[in-house]
Amino acid sequence: MVTESIPTIVPQSADAEFNPLLSAEARFDQAAERLGLDEGMQKVLRSPAREIIVHIPVQLDDGRLEVFTGYRVQHSIARGPAKGGIRYAPDVSLDEVRALASWMTWKCAVVNIPFGGGKGGIICDPNLLSTGELERITRRYTAELFEFIGPEIDVPAPDMNTNEQTMAWIMDTYSMHSRHTQTAVVTGKPINLGGSRGRSEATGRGCMIVTSEALKRFGLDRASTRVVIQGFGNVGGMSAKLMAQAGFKIVAIVEYDGAVYNTNGLDIAALTAHRKETGSVVDFPGGENIDRDEAMFLDTDVLLPAAKENVITSHNASRLRCKILCEGANGPTTHLADSILAEKGIFIVPDILANAGGVTVSYFEWVQDRQGYFWNEQLVNERLEQIMVESFNDVVAYAEKHGVHNRTAAYMLALDRVAFAIKLRGLYA
Ligand code: NAD
Repeated sequence: MVTESIPTIVPQSADAEFNPLLSAEARFDQAAERLGLDEGMQKVLRSPAREIIVHIPVQLDDGRLEVFTGYRVQHSIARGPAKGGIRYAPDVSLDEVRALASWMTWKCAVVNIPFGGGKGGIICDPNLLSTGELERITRRYTAELFEFIGPEIDVPAPDMNTNEQTMAWIMDTYSMHSRHTQTAVVTGKPINLGGSRGRSEATGRGCMIVTSEALKRFGLDRASTRVVIQGFGNVGGMSAKLMAQAGFKIVAIVEYDGAVYNTNGLDIAALTAHRKETGSVVDFPGGENIDRDEAMFLDTDVLLPAAKENVITSHNASRLRCKILCEGANGPTTHLADSILAEKGIFIVPDILANAGGVTVSYFEWVQDRQGYFWNEQLVNERLEQIMVESFNDVVAYAEKHGVHNRTAAYMLALDRVAFAIKLRGLYA
């Protein structure tokens, strides 16, 4: 039985609710308190192990010299090398990278893979840079970080505005400095350079697996389960495809420019083709257009927000009508919405569990690179399923044992695992 009451923390300012750093802190505090972690350990868990700032001089195509600022934060290396993406955006900040790095620590710990957490970023606007400029920025950033990254130290991956090509440049630059090819320095590489099969589908597949596990708890069968998905990109599109193949009824897809609905279930393959052809999900012949701002509040069994952060807030949480909320996106629910969802009895599969399929297959990629032995897609998918099911059961069992909600349980489990590793290792001084 859940005995936890989630405190409603009144934010200092109206937009504080939407600060992911504050949401992450509120959830950390709640889990740490419930675990009874002493103040000293809390301090250790809060502090990033390392923060690196580099200034990257690059010659632009027109001959001018420009200097870009880049970050890499290694929040924890207690359970293994730091792991996390690198993003390119004009508004990247050290605070944001710090918060995202700690998020990765908890995510890797929830699925019990031997990584800590890291994150990186470069302040730049990729829309204003040529491919050659992006390549030079990436290579110089990698060279500046040479001592601080590596298969045993810190393993970057793609994030916002970076991709397979970016990872190939990092791998090549790192390998040129090491004087031999080191594929395991990054994940999310192209398959013919040591990438893993199943990586691009992994996050959506993970969402599908944990949703299936959640259904079992409600005694629901897939064919009669209605699913609403927000976002039809990598995570949402892949979740929709795999869920439809597994027999779920996807009744609505919500995109930024409109939403489409079919009470009998949308034909996802046909919708994908329609979007490819027209650039939008709107006016799909196999469904009806509905108001995109209302679609999230449809009466449904499963709601899967897979677009962006802060879509479920203290202002709209009371209107949700789903039984299961599977958080495909990072941070789709603000911390102020948590207590409202708890009161409504919505079963949450929290983001640090629900979307951990991607980092899990990144772990598989790293393992395969280090062994030089590559798995077929079936093996990748089987092992992903095994980890996601185990992690789901770990979190739910932890929640039941401690009388807390799933999100608090996921954070408690993660903090507990990292604190345990720190205690076992002891402090080197
Ligand atoms: P994406 O850009 O491929 O897809 C996002 C989709 O959401 C796009 O189709 C976009 O048009 C749509 N969208 C944007 N704003 C919207 C709105 N207001 N309403 C409805 N739809 C909207 O991105 P992605 O890789 O699928 O990532 C989505 C979320 O999942 C992000 O929060 C990301 O951090 C998280 N995530 C992604 C991965 C991964 O492997 N790609 C892993 C873990 C977490």
